[in-house]
Amino acid sequence: MQKVLTIGEVLVEIVATTKGDGFLAAQPLVGPFPSGAPAIFIDQVGKLGTPCAIVSRVGDDDFGRVNIERLRADGVDVSGIEIAEGETTGSAFVRYREDGSRAFLYNIRHSACGKIRPNPVSEALVDSCDHLHVMGSAFSAPELGAMVMDAAQRIKTRGGTISFDPNLRPELMRDPAMRAPLDAILAMTDLFLPSGEELFLFEPDHDEAGAVEALLARGIRTIVLKRGAKGASLFQKGLRADAQPIPVEELDPTGAGDAFGGAFLSFWLRGTDPAEALRLANAAGARAVTRLGPMEGTSTRTELDAILQGQKG
Ligand code: ATP
Ligand code: MG
Repeated sequence: MQKVLTIGEVLVEIVATTKGDGFLAAQPLVGPFPSGAPAIFIDQVGKLGTPCAIVSRVGDDDFGRVNIERLRADGVDVSGIEIAEGETTGSAFVRYREDGSRAFLYNIRHSACGKIRPNPVSEALVDSCDHLHVMGSAFSAPELGAMVMDAAQRIKTRGGTISFDPNLRPELMRDPAMRAPLDAILAMTDLFLPSGEELFLFEPDHDEAGAVEALLARGIRTIVLKRGAKGASLFQKGLRADAQPIPVEELDPTGAGDAFGGAFLSFWLRGTDPAEALRLANAAGARAVTRLGPMEGTSTRTELDAILQGQKG
């Protein structure tokens, strides 16, 4: 089976258990939960039994260890997570506001992952993997961005495939330093996984159908549009499929997009019928929002089937 690689920040998340704006007052918190978009994504890939690995860098601390142990237990090759003595793993505090939006407080500016550089283990992983999942947010850090770009070029040149989740706010696209690498990644992308308005990042002058058509015309094989609590849609040349949202109680939506993407990629790589892969990924996203903690709701195949059976019954 093809092996999937991703590269990026691993951190812990600490979640406020009461709703409100920010962290000025003392309040009940839970965590640390394993987190980081690439970590959540690759954990979901591992849970579905697809060979996979992550390249990252953490401190020699419990926040790093909690991630490494979880990812290893869920089937991810963690040999590419470098442990940096005397440095610290990043963290993020999140609090939900009454309107459902999120207040984030990040401690990642000086995290161990900020000093990530290619090393013999990461180079060997790039050489041994067949698929790279790219997070657009990687390009806000120049060294990480350079590693991701190099890995994408090497894997693509060898005949491998690339999936791309922009994972960005549209404002960031106005930064010219981000624009060039994102355009270069899009040109290599086989599977594009935008969320909501990210569909228009590269095709701003179109409606949804026009943007999809223009992106497919660029050579992207599959586009999967995540629509949050409204479900998801899949587009290929001559094919459209829609997944209606599965009714669930949304407890913590952070990480749903990564669980969705990791599940979709696993089935897409196995050659599962695209509409069926979409149905399974939609279930992975729905289950993810029912658990507190961004990585706590990643799913095994048995758990996805249970969600889908519950929906029928
Ligand atoms: P992230 O916060 O991780 O960046 P995202 O914005 O990339 O998330 P979403 O669109 O929020 O991704 O969620 C991904 C998928 O999960 C949706 O397309 C849908 O299939 C499922 N999903 C998300 N929220 C809900 C919900 N409230 N009910 C049912 N399914 C949901
Ligand atoms: Mg979302």
